[in-house]
Amino acid sequence: MTTMSDDTDARRATMVADIVADAKATAPHTGRETFSQRVLDAMAAVPRHAFVRPDDLARAYVNGPLPIGQGQTISQPFVVALMTDVLELNGSDRVLEIGVGSGYQTAILAKLAAHVYGVEVLPGLASAAEARLSAQGARNVTVRTGDGTLGWPEHAPYDAILVGAAPSAMPEALVAQLKPGGRMIIPVGRGRLTQELLLVKKDSSGAVSQRSVLPVQFVPLVKG
Ligand code: SAH
Repeated sequence: MTTMSDDTDARRATMVADIVADAKATAPHTGRETFSQRVLDAMAAVPRHAFVRPDDLARAYVNGPLPIGQGQTISQPFVVALMTDVLELNGSDRVLEIGVGSGYQTAILAKLAAHVYGVEVLPGLASAAEARLSAQGARNVTVRTGDGTLGWPEHAPYDAILVGAAPSAMPEALVAQLKPGGRMIIPVGRGRLTQELLLVKKDSSGAVSQRSVLPVQFVPLVKG
């Protein structure tokens, strides 16, 4: 007998295979031929169908973004995996996520980090994401409504920061809230066609460097 969960397991396995193929295809940009097994296992485990709108259930495991309401989107699975992979989480990290949206990326981070602090500017999306994350049993997550451009100073500094919407310039408050040795992944650029996913690193002496990982298209980071 085929059950609903067998079906979604199989669809997730196909999605992970698509992610692995995209990783290979983009390696000339990203410098990564594939992603860590821990990241791929998290992508295979989290039920993306629980984070999309009921009308999109049939498309939940297609390797593309989907609308989640209020002009926002759940990110493409490949991009979620790439952004997670470059953060090199080891299970003990405290992570700040800006732009929680559906909560799907949050759920992936929660599997690989000690705690995820999420900031979402739209109250309706923040509360829906919180409800989904708690239904999924993600206990190591705290979500609040607010302007993520300012980070979340009360819990800083962070081992890793992931930004899911694009500012036109690097938000200095986020760089300041990164721990020495910390990593941040953030799309930066003015137009939708001119954004670069930047990997920012702060070394043990506090010096900051950055490199472009991939040209991308994210929704804009708005002022809260
Ligand atoms: N990774 C999320 C992406 C959601 S889209 C997902 O896969 O579901 C980007 C999100 O950033 C949107 O929910 C949008 O409301 C939010 N956002 C935009 N500007 C923001 C800001 N200044 N602070 C916090 N969140 C912001």
